Amino acid sequence: MRNGATEHDAAEHRAGLWHAQPADLVLRRLGVDAGSGLDDTEAAHRRHLFGRNLLPSRPARGPLRRFLSQCNNVLIYLLLAASAITFGIGDHLDAAVILVVVLINAVVGFLQEGNAERALQGIRSLLPFNTTVLREGQGRQLPAAELVPGDIVHLAPGDKVPADVRLTTARGLRIDESALTGESGAVDKNPAPLADDTVIAERSCMAYSGTIVRHGSAAGVVVATGAVTEIGRISSLLNRIEPLDTPLLRKLAAFGRALTGAVLAVGSAMFAYGTLVRGNSVAEMFAAAVGFAVASVPEGLPAVITVTLAIGVRRMARRRAIVRRLPAVEALGAVTVICTDKTGTLTRNEMAVRQVITADGILDVGAAGYAPHGRFTCAGADVDPNTQAHLRGIALACLLCNDAQLHQRGAQWELSGDPTEGALLSMAMKAGLDAVRERAAHPRVDVIPFESEHGYMATLHVSLGGARVFLKGAPERVLPLCDSESRLGRDAPVAVPAWQQRIAVAAGQGMRLIAVAMRAAKAQPAHLNFPDVQAGGFTLLGILAMVDAPREEAVEAVAACLAAGIRVKMITGDHPATAAAIGEQLGFPPPVRTLGGAQIDAMDDAALGAVLAATDVFARATPEHKLRLVRALQAGGAVVAMTGDGVNDAPALKRADVGVAMGGKGTEAAKEAAQIVLADDNFATLAASVEEGRVVYDNIRKSIVFTLPTNGGEAGMLMLAVLLGITLPVTPVQILWVNMITEVSLSLALAFEPPEENVMRRAPRDPGEPLVTGFLVWRIVFVSLLMMGGCVGLYLWELGHGASLAQARTVVVNTLVISHVAYLFNTRRLGASALCREGFTGNRVALLGMLAALLCQGALTYWNPLQAWFGTAALGWDAWARIAGFGVMLFLAVESEKAWRRRRGRPARGAGASVT
Ligand code: ADP
Ligand code: MG
Repeated sequence: MRNGATEHDAAEHRAGLWHAQPADLVLRRLGVDAGSGLDDTEAAHRRHLFGRNLLPSRPARGPLRRFLSQCNNVLIYLLLAASAITFGIGDHLDAAVILVVVLINAVVGFLQEGNAERALQGIRSLLPFNTTVLREGQGRQLPAAELVPGDIVHLAPGDKVPADVRLTTARGLRIDESALTGESGAVDKNPAPLADDTVIAERSCMAYSGTIVRHGSAAGVVVATGAVTEIGRISSLLNRIEPLDTPLLRKLAAFGRALTGAVLAVGSAMFAYGTLVRGNSVAEMFAAAVGFAVASVPEGLPAVITVTLAIGVRRMARRRAIVRRLPAVEALGAVTVICTDKTGTLTRNEMAVRQVITADGILDVGAAGYAPHGRFTCAGADVDPNTQAHLRGIALACLLCNDAQLHQRGAQWELSGDPTEGALLSMAMKAGLDAVRERAAHPRVDVIPFESEHGYMATLHVSLGGARVFLKGAPERVLPLCDSESRLGRDAPVAVPAWQQRIAVAAGQGMRLIAVAMRAAKAQPAHLNFPDVQAGGFTLLGILAMVDAPREEAVEAVAACLAAGIRVKMITGDHPATAAAIGEQLGFPPPVRTLGGAQIDAMDDAALGAVLAATDVFARATPEHKLRLVRALQAGGAVVAMTGDGVNDAPALKRADVGVAMGGKGTEAAKEAAQIVLADDNFATLAASVEEGRVVYDNIRKSIVFTLPTNGGEAGMLMLAVLLGITLPVTPVQILWVNMITEVSLSLALAFEPPEENVMRRAPRDPGEPLVTGFLVWRIVFVSLLMMGGCVGLYLWELGHGASLAQARTVVVNTLVISHVAYLFNTRRLGASALCREGFTGNRVALLGMLAALLCQGALTYWNPLQAWFGTAALGWDAWARIAGFGVMLFLAVESEKAWRRRRGRPARGAGASVT
């Protein structure tokens, strides 16, 4: 086998030419047999030789580039200019202090952004990507990274092609190559060799890494992995890592630019007014203007918000929801409708056949997991399956028209494949059939795989008794194809009304139904196609009824969503009665109204929109219906989260405000289209991430409401001083200090704020509502005015009572920081009272930050070097008492405002209105 690999080395030079050679030659050159694949030692050897099948990761921005990008904003330029001018004026110390503080600010921003980026990258790598590969003659699921050249891989709809593959067989294969060629729409593929000079986009016998299988199935041999795949070659040109960007951050950046412009204009006006009208010195006015600019711009806010988003992403990951695109975090908090799959998401997806329904009566099946042991009973009396000829026929159909496999591991039986099929297989084994033997005795010649769109699966088998087609699927699909039924061991004309009666009874109990039928084929056909099956003429053998219980946590999560003003809509391919019964068990608000796929088809958009509000269950629905539902809901103003797993769900996932894919049973196509991936396929996880989304949005709002009054208060104070013609109450370097302290120790604390008690008991926020609502603007102005008044008041009082200028300024700096400490307690709850235990101790990070801020203020006030750099002076205890007194007053003033609002019953918009 070894020379296979070396031959491949030589072939590397002709790498572009795999498409020009016949498939069997390619297989020979790669030293592999298409029927058995590589053996494990050879695979290990090749992995050693060629490395893991991973794309080279995009070179991360170097630390220096990242650091410099921190410094790339107008404010920094302004400060650097100010530092240069200050130096020119001869004030070397001030110039140096400005430089150092600017540097510290940039370092803080740099570290925070680095943290946020790492959080996101770490989470991406949590998403495993498996592929079906043939090794040692067995089909295995392996991580795509383990593939080596020469591996035989299987491709099915929804798969992401794991490496560059030369196709060896293909059936109706269509691949979406937009990831590689940028052209949307799927292209047909088949193994026929092509001319040497065929361009990549037209190499129809190749499947390229990173592209997505839309239809059909295929097998092929891996010819290139990792960096030498086509996508690997161009991946340096691709920017595959999403930037740290969301609509919110963009809005904020725009706001920042506008603000900077306004600040520069006002600052210049201040400078002109001070020098020309007031006749102040140029140096002092320059300081005032620079101080004003520094004071007004909330330069730390974007970093704080990025960190808040990243913390949200991490919290969601801890709850098993993986965020693929950052904007989803914001959108989740605004979701008003969740459309969710039923099977496996709301239910456990651990199915078991409970009843075998035939024309002769009902057999009950004892069930425990997939273990093939269980009794058959009829009206309570034990039945020996070996005596039931018709049961054997049904069991054989269930076993042959089936792709699932059950393996015994210890005492446990494990399933690989679809749970519905697992349940059928387990039933067949309970009935006494041996899966291996039966499959060998009735070899399968062809198959039409199950898809929700046509609602059945059919297989063609050729054995000694002749050729037979087995059909299994949704009863409404199978019944019309049957003209006879098996009754008392004979074929009899099918009694449709009786079957409809049986179906209605079983579905009404919430059971999932599968009908099985059989037809003898006339000749010995080698293929099975749709017209064949649609031609009908089947004999209905029976119907299997299985239970799939709701997940307990899903029941709670549905209740939580309803309490949070979020409608939950269930979309399923199951029977309407089954779906309605499960909906009731899940606690959907009664009466549970259902709409079938056919009814949706019969409605136009307006009619659909009209019934949506009252309908929570959509049955016999296909992925196309999902897309229509998303559109109709959005047209009605809803913010929609939609779950999906299949390849055809991708359009609906893309269209939804939040597309959610299943991490376990979902296809790569669905994951690629989604913004969020649920690692455990669980509805409760989705509900939890909605909660986290709301918390993130709350915390971003809190950060803004907390940060902006610093800027408002300081800037107002400087403007007032210039207008009144008094000496500046703070110097630019002192303002830099205050910003640095509040930013590093206090602002970030709000990113860690735990959820408020009512996050999931209030209505979703109005998606049209601005980030900063009228209420928030009022709060910002109110607190800015209080801070400004307090600072100027204390400053004038100190000067009037014999304090030095340095002391009076020190009082102002301390007042600013202390009032922020007080205001942080207020802001931790936007509307609710902070006067409770949780309000004081609920956020450990905030308390630590406050402690740090106070220690820094102590150092600034009493430590000689800092005194020299920042122009501060020691204070007596009485000054501290006044400062603390003002802090308490500010806290109580804001709490009174909240209390007044609560009493007036005007819940603060943006502080979250209650649902009730
Ligand atoms: P959902 O995923 O919402 O449960 P599906 O589209 O998977 O809906 O299933 C719809 C119906 O199709 C089921 O009620 C069942 O009757 C039938 N069905 C499901 N899985 C299979 C299968 N593997 N083979 C044949 N029929 C199936
Ligand atoms: Mg399904």
